[in-house]
Amino acid sequence: LRARSASSVFKPGTNPDDVAMSDVLCDFCGREWTEDVPFIEGHRGRHVCGRCLELARAELAGGAPTGDVAPAPYTCVLCREDAADRAALRRANEPGWRSPIVDDAVMCRRCAEEAAAALAKDPDWQ
Ligand SMILES: [Zn+2]
Ligand SMILES: [Zn+2]
Repeated sequence: LRARSASSVFKPGTNPDDVAMSDVLCDFCGREWTEDVPFIEGHRGRHVCGRCLELARAELAGGAPTGDVAPAPYTCVLCREDAADRAALRRANEPGWRSPIVDDAVMCRRCAEEAAAALAKDPDWQ
């Protein structure tokens, strides 16, 4: 995972030769990328904003899920790993965080941790 780059999925109608920050959307809440909130890019131009990432980390680290934790057979939006991939990596029972807004948007714990580590290196984000 890394900060966003040009290979992204953009808002409909975006001119690929003239992409604005606001053309980049969070896959988990639909928010536009602004100066206020950092974005992290996953595979295939998928994105998560800092706010969703904070929510995900809180849910996955808390040990007391409040209903936004996905059961094992999900596919992570950010890394595209599915249940079989995680089983092969001995992470079969690892829960993911499901967006409360976008039903099929789920991120795995590993992505939440890697994205948080990437964000921690961003000097503009406390
Ligand atoms: Zn978001
Ligand atoms: Zn993942």
